[in-house]
Amino acid sequence: MSSYDPHEQSIPLDPPDWEEFKALGRRIVDDMADYLAGIRDRPVWQPVPPDVQARLDTALPRTGVPAQDVYEEFRTTVMPYPRGNIHPRFWGWANGSGVPVAAYADLLASVVNCTLGSGENAAMMVEHQVIAWLREAMRWPADGSGVLTSGASMGQIIALAAARQAKSGTADLRGLGAVADGRQFTVYGSTETHHSVEKAVELLGIGGHFFRRIPVDADFRIDTGALCDAIRRDRAAGLHPMCLVGNAGTVNTGAVDPLDELLALAREEDLWFHVDGAFGAFAQLLPTHRPLLAGMNEADSLVFDLHKWLYMPFDVSCVLVRRPDALENTFSSSADYISSTAQGPAAYSLAFSDRGIEQSRRFRALKVWFALKAHGIDTFAASIAGNIDQIAYLTKLADSCDRLEVVSRSDLNIVCFRYVWPDATPDDLNRVNQDVLSRLQMEGLAMPSHTVIDGRFVIRVANNNHRSVRSDFDFLVSQILTIGDGLVAASR
Ligand SMILES: *Cc1c(COP(=O)(O)O)cnc(C)c1O
Repeated sequence: MSSYDPHEQSIPLDPPDWEEFKALGRRIVDDMADYLAGIRDRPVWQPVPPDVQARLDTALPRTGVPAQDVYEEFRTTVMPYPRGNIHPRFWGWANGSGVPVAAYADLLASVVNCTLGSGENAAMMVEHQVIAWLREAMRWPADGSGVLTSGASMGQIIALAAARQAKSGTADLRGLGAVADGRQFTVYGSTETHHSVEKAVELLGIGGHFFRRIPVDADFRIDTGALCDAIRRDRAAGLHPMCLVGNAGTVNTGAVDPLDELLALAREEDLWFHVDGAFGAFAQLLPTHRPLLAGMNEADSLVFDLHKWLYMPFDVSCVLVRRPDALENTFSSSADYISSTAQGPAAYSLAFSDRGIEQSRRFRALKVWFALKAHGIDTFAASIAGNIDQIAYLTKLADSCDRLEVVSRSDLNIVCFRYVWPDATPDDLNRVNQDVLSRLQMEGLAMPSHTVIDGRFVIRVANNNHRSVRSDFDFLVSQILTIGDGLVAASR
């Protein structure tokens, strides 16, 4: 570094030779396109070998090497060992598959390098535009407000903070778990509610104990009778019921709570109605599925992950609120260094930093703007309908096979099932299904995940994948049967 005279030249963090920079960029784009085009021929996942792990655990570099060399290292250490969710046979957890054109937008976002807290610039307007489109897609009131976040976990915190603010009665109760008169807040949701809701309740100081986990029915939907009882009991005990959380697609089984009933109950009981639609909310794009989600677009708040069932690269999620000022009431703050001016960038009235926790925010709106413009919402809707259809197909395959048992089914994109055989004990079934799943995963054949339903270890297939085709599910079933048959035969 001492060889640079700061009076004569800047430290060379910009490329000394832009032609070289372009050449590397062209090579990266070529390689990435080839990689995506050939993704089907690669294993879905493979373990990271110890020598590669060692290369990813080195000391802080003191001096640099050419960027081409770093890229080469990326190609050999990172590229071959992905999570797998861009592969056509990945159906684990709730990960999306990633629309390629959005990757260009991520590159462009890093180049223009805007932070989206406040101020007049086109990037702010892009996020504003994207939120308006998402409102329209979700059939959300036009004067509702929103903000893009990293994920639904962050969205739950923002939505529940807005709920607490709206229900506290006064404007300055941030940080408290109780209303002004000292009554403890309570929050309600089913036992199938995602753990991020409980995290949010904890973080807001309400206390995880006061998140009331209400039992579910045989279809994993909240038991509304038990819910009414719990609210009544809490009121009688002097607590202050504050918020009701409805699920539009539970993470385990894709169950949708009776949202219209929950909405009516929330109105009757003066509760904030929050809907976790992390992936399931996107079924709102399909006329066939709107009745299933009735009530969702009348909620007080809604979260949904664009990196799940809208196939955007990580991370981008959205929280919408019904009352236009609900987020600003909760999160706006003032300081001399962010006050507005009469003219110039600081005159702009919109501030996303007043709608959530973060001030420095990346330009994640651009990939959504880019992808929605490039493909149109109808294309995404068609892919979502296709995913639902594929899961219905897989469910039918499992139903018609006496060596498979469907344990949960849904109207959305998740089915849970297991390999079975006569005279198996519950322990045998759990052990063999764990082995079947790890063989699928370790050999990179397919990547479902698992869950446990009433003590039964099940293979869980959650389809947020725009690359899957029907025959991928035929392949999955045939592999499960082959592996399962082999394991049972070997144990005899
Ligand atoms: C994934 C998921 C979440 C959490 O969202 P993140 O984007 O991972 O933070 C919450 N609820 C449900 C139903 C989910 O599927």
